[in-house]
Amino acid sequence: MRRTTVRNLFDKKPIGEDILVKGWVKSLRKSKTFCFIVLNDGSAQKDLQIIADESLAGYEDFTKCLVGSSLSIHGKLVESGGKQPIEVQASAVEILGTTPQDYPLQKKGTSMEFLREIAHLRPRTNVFGAVFRVRHELAQATHKFFTDKGFYYLNTPILTAMDAEGAGELFRVSTLDPNKLPLDKSGKVIWEKDYFGKESYLCVTGQLEAEAFACSMGSVYTFGPTFRSENSNTTRHLSEFWMIEPEVAFADLEEVAELGAEYIQFMIKHVLEKCPDEMALFNSFVEKGIIAKLEKVAATPFKRITYTEAVDILLKSNKKFEYKVEWGVDLQTEHEKFLTDEHFKGPVIVTDYPKEIKAFYMRQNEDGKTVRAMDILVPGIGEIIGGSQREERLDIIEAKIAEEGLDPDLYKWYLDLRRYGTVPHSGFGLGFERAVMYITGMSNIRDVIPFHRTPNHIDF
Ligand code: ATP
Ligand code: MN
Repeated sequence: MRRTTVRNLFDKKPIGEDILVKGWVKSLRKSKTFCFIVLNDGSAQKDLQIIADESLAGYEDFTKCLVGSSLSIHGKLVESGGKQPIEVQASAVEILGTTPQDYPLQKKGTSMEFLREIAHLRPRTNVFGAVFRVRHELAQATHKFFTDKGFYYLNTPILTAMDAEGAGELFRVSTLDPNKLPLDKSGKVIWEKDYFGKESYLCVTGQLEAEAFACSMGSVYTFGPTFRSENSNTTRHLSEFWMIEPEVAFADLEEVAELGAEYIQFMIKHVLEKCPDEMALFNSFVEKGIIAKLEKVAATPFKRITYTEAVDILLKSNKKFEYKVEWGVDLQTEHEKFLTDEHFKGPVIVTDYPKEIKAFYMRQNEDGKTVRAMDILVPGIGEIIGGSQREERLDIIEAKIAEEGLDPDLYKWYLDLRRYGTVPHSGFGLGFERAVMYITGMSNIRDVIPFHRTPNHIDF
């Protein structure tokens, strides 16, 4: 007989049928002539209640099983008078694996910090099971959203020689022996001797490569791992995270700003529909009122302001910020938080940032001071999307590459996209973990990725 999942049983409710379920004990309560087993197999938020009579073979043994033990249970699915609509009347219980007293996940509440130290066991908890089922649904929603709009899914390289963001947050990839580096006469490393024959890194974005495919297939999106060695120990930064990057030919900034808002709203609606049990848990135990908040966000157009307007709002707010606000500075978390949490009380799209604080590939505005960049900020998180209209004019982007001191040889192919049949095009990157945080209410990015990588942490 094949095992059925608990999800399947709650979906189909095959009352009266013989079934086989396997999972982990959440609790086991013995009364005089029978015992109650609460079993979870991770397929759903819901637990399955099992009633096992004392006449069953091995009763003395399996009723000694502690929380976290794994069991295989044959039985009949019956209607239940209790809280759940169904339960199982066991006909055979087999122990798959026992658990000693020191199982770290006992029933009582455990802190997020402690659970991070047992990241291999934490998906067995209610909260983490819910987070990772929602994460799955968000990935499915992503593919559905873009596929339905005619985008092609593209896998861009993870190993690269390009520092596309120019932010110096690269992880070096090398096979040279650090103790025997090939040095030239002036003591500089001869990178020609390294594996790829030049300096190489893990990607900080797939955008540049995605542009090549947008400028041929029209609309593409990437969904892959991204690496940044930024030394920011915050609740919103990981060294390894996942990013979704749509890139759209013939689109201007307005079009992708709208696309970004629509994408976020689509993800929210998808999860509210597919994960009601998980959302109910977040609503009660993680962020009170999150369901109503998300329903409102999904139904309300996002606010739109320019960077210059944002700076005005911040200056007029009379709030004491740690970082001083003046035209030209990058918006800090506290500034973004004021805009979303206090001023607009919802998501806001900020456009047209000063060119000095943005990347070389962003399209210059007529004013000579700003570029066609946009960030989408959401309450509690700050930036969830960063995007721009790309500079499609060859002479301007060539000058920009020279100005920033980038190696023109590396960008030759990128400039070809402007040399041969250039078109206006735009795109953005959405941090997948930030989306998971926003939609679950989880407050630390370390708790929405299976195994987190942050400065000084690469366990598991
Ligand atoms: P931030 O200012 O928050 O560091 P950024 O301006 O460096 O973000 P982009 O380069 O625009 O971000 O990257 C696009 C998106 O990727 C961001 O909007 C964010 O959602 C996500 N992101 C960027 N850096 C990280 C990180 N270290 N960990 C997780 N997500 C990130
Ligand atoms: Mn950053």
